[in-house]
Amino acid sequence: MGFFGCHLSSSGGNLKMVETALSIDANTFAFFTRNPRGSHAKTEDPKDAMAACSLMRDSGFGPLVAHGSYTMNLCTADSDARIFAAGVLQDDLRRMALLPGNYYNFHPGSHVGQGVERGIGQIVDALRAALTHKYPVTVLLETMAGKGSEIGGDFSQLRAILDGVGSDDLGVCLDTCHVWDAGYDIVQDLDGVIHEFDRVIGLSRLKALHLNDSKNPSSSKKDRHACLGDGFLGLETFRNIVKHPKLKGIPMILETPNELPGYQREISILRKLEAE
Ligand code: FE
Ligand code: FE
Ligand code: ZN
Repeated sequence: MGFFGCHLSSSGGNLKMVETALSIDANTFAFFTRNPRGSHAKTEDPKDAMAACSLMRDSGFGPLVAHGSYTMNLCTADSDARIFAAGVLQDDLRRMALLPGNYYNFHPGSHVGQGVERGIGQIVDALRAALTHKYPVTVLLETMAGKGSEIGGDFSQLRAILDGVGSDDLGVCLDTCHVWDAGYDIVQDLDGVIHEFDRVIGLSRLKALHLNDSKNPSSSKKDRHACLGDGFLGLETFRNIVKHPKLKGIPMILETPNELPGYQREISILRKLEAE
């Protein structure tokens, strides 16, 4: 049985999220480590984290896929803001150590005119500094749509970050809306895209998936999510994904904003597609 889940609000704490996930038949989930559009983070509660871990263990959960704040840009042009972002990354990983063995995914960053090469260098520097602490968390770079000056719309850019950091503790989270918007045709040729991912990045690095449909045609570089089946990807593509032998066992997260009953419906669709 696959690991399917969705984005949950972290406002009630970790245990509450696990209970909510169970109530909608999810066995993984995602949450923002801090205000997604700001930088505020809640105070830590080790007891709550331990209770959450034990309930996840008893319930057979797959790894969680926490999400860094959208405002954390490791390659912003302003050096003070860049140092602040690198500090946020380290603080997030330190906090995630309360939930050991899980994933922390983030958007690599936007170089805002500095150029791809320079941006990649700055992302690499921040990651190298953060990973020296050896927190028990695997950091994931998200594949991006390539909107504006976003880094990560091309698999080769993620490869360059992985090479620059030179750590095995770094993985990739593939977002279906983003790769489609970036020009990887997972509708007509999912096998070809998986093969390309393997060739450029290596499938062993693929640790998580974001399952979002896209409101726009391929290569649009827009990054506008849609619920499963409501966009250009269509349910057939998600059937191919959840049934693909090379994607088995990888946590798959719905992250298009939805109410809980909506997420519950989408998870039941995924489980049905998987079983077909
Ligand atoms: Fe994301
Ligand atoms: Fe995503
Ligand atoms: Zn997106």
